Amino acid sequence: MSNPLKKILVVGGGTAGWLTAAVLAAAHDARMESGIRVTLIESPDVSTIGVGEGTWPSMRDTLSRIGVSERDFIRECSASFKQGSKFVGWRTGDNKEFYYHPFSLPQGYLNANLVPYWQAEHANISFASAFSSQEALCQLGKAPKQPETPEFAAVANYAYHLDAGKFATFLRQHCTQKLGVQHVLDHVTGVNSADSGDIASLSTRGHGDVVADLFIDCTGIASLLLGRHFGVPFVSKKEVLFNDRAVAMQVPYAEGNDAISSATIATAQRAGWIWDIGLPSRRGVGYVYSSNHASDEEAEETLRSYVKSDPRSCPSIDIVARKLSFNPGFRKEFWHRNCVAVGMSAGFIEPLEASAIALVELSAAMIRDQLPANRRVMETVARRFNQRFSYHWERVIEFLKLHYVLSSRSDSEYWRDHRREEGIPRRLTELLELWQFQPPSRHDFLQAEEIFPSASYQYVLYGMGFSTHQRSTSCRRDSFEQADRYYKENKSQIERQINGLPSNRELINHLARETH
Ligand SMILES: Cc1cc2nc3c(=O)[nH]c(=O)nc-3n(C[C@H](O)[C@H](O)[C@H](O)COP(=O)(O)OP(=O)(O)OC[C@H]3O[C@@H](n4cnc5c(N)ncnc54)[C@H](O)[C@@H]3O)c2cc1C
Repeated sequence: MSNPLKKILVVGGGTAGWLTAAVLAAAHDARMESGIRVTLIESPDVSTIGVGEGTWPSMRDTLSRIGVSERDFIRECSASFKQGSKFVGWRTGDNKEFYYHPFSLPQGYLNANLVPYWQAEHANISFASAFSSQEALCQLGKAPKQPETPEFAAVANYAYHLDAGKFATFLRQHCTQKLGVQHVLDHVTGVNSADSGDIASLSTRGHGDVVADLFIDCTGIASLLLGRHFGVPFVSKKEVLFNDRAVAMQVPYAEGNDAISSATIATAQRAGWIWDIGLPSRRGVGYVYSSNHASDEEAEETLRSYVKSDPRSCPSIDIVARKLSFNPGFRKEFWHRNCVAVGMSAGFIEPLEASAIALVELSAAMIRDQLPANRRVMETVARRFNQRFSYHWERVIEFLKLHYVLSSRSDSEYWRDHRREEGIPRRLTELLELWQFQPPSRHDFLQAEEIFPSASYQYVLYGMGFSTHQRSTSCRRDSFEQADRYYKENKSQIERQINGLPSNRELINHLARETH
């Protein structure tokens, strides 16, 4: 019988490192003598990536499980409420045209086939507004809950926008003060192997060799352990999703109490798209683009004119632009021997739909739930982990590509290139063929923990103007009557919520005023 797993070393103190440490420490009693020991080491010399402001609703469960107060989190991370994404200019390039991908499932989604009814009766309004209240709520800057709603509970499904730097600090304090995580501030200088080929310890500049049973690589793009030490190959996806650069800015509001947007706004550009995220204190804005289709100067120019043209931007401030580059893709495997990569060290694809932190949460949760009792059973857990996350990465890539292939924009090479057959994953091509005759459904996505369920595909597909021609038996009177009930239910829900919910800004201000 091999020795029980007792010590976990997380390397890296970005969002991935601290979230993973928190999830493991909370579930495996790191504070107690009998628990698993969790140590996190981060370099004082290598800064975190410092972006990553959009999350998924899964974050509510993650934060609640690690025992933080939602109010403290909102205040200390300059967080706001996010109810989905608004895509502007993706279909034709006209910036007056938009659609939403809200977080709530369409009303009645699990019981009725809504699409034929919507196409026949309400095609003059968006699919999202016919069956979800969140398009209307976001258009009005409404919050997803009332001040009295309990922490982490929702009236309308929500996630958060947050300040990434403050989030890492918040998690660090919680991990070290409440969860018993040991924190080492030091630079890892080498990896020492055991005879078996496993990692035995890591050499550090000031703390000697640090030993552990399981090493979690959260070293960001460096991928120090999985990539550099073990040489696990990188699978590039640049031929599918071209974006490999970003330029980012933090933009103060013109008026301190300006409305805070309740959705991430993603506005399509000639060589990529601009994200616009509203935090209570500022907006986070950035242009993600393809270096094959625009120069860095062009990209910065595009972003600056976007910011300038928005009346919410403070006109007198000269804003510094931060440049980032990345290689879109992921590692061939994520768990190798006694090392598992989480976060950017495992891979990264452009932040459209903000799936990176959601993948961190899913990875941390699987490590938590399947934590191998000892080294002998680790291979089995690793194999399952690799299968599960290869599946997730491929689905994320297909879903993001969907946003591009459905566009009819032809104003630049970038958009035309996105529709070239050789860059479209085969499974996506097959599904698009199928969806001409039946809407996306649960039969297309079989895992229990799909990152993007079929409802997400419906929102994007029909938001982008896709048509599904269904056989007449799908358009029967009884199924229309059922869908009609859900449509009417949604309409009255919209009215109730608009009247009953405060604005995003009002709710944030209320939480900021409230004392413990
Ligand atoms: C432009 C852009 C926008 C993004 N937007 C979103 C978004 O909206 N939503 C979303 O979910 N995700 C987004 N992401 C991704 C998100 O930022 C990351 O997934 C998240 O921040 C996790 O990063 P990380 O912790 O893996 O890496 P990092 O933040 O880079 O942290 C790496 C850590 O490793 C440590 N380290 C490195 N080398 C050593 C060493 N030798 N010794 C010790 N420590 C070391 C560093 O000190 C640091 O603490 C975005 C990414 C980019 C590039």
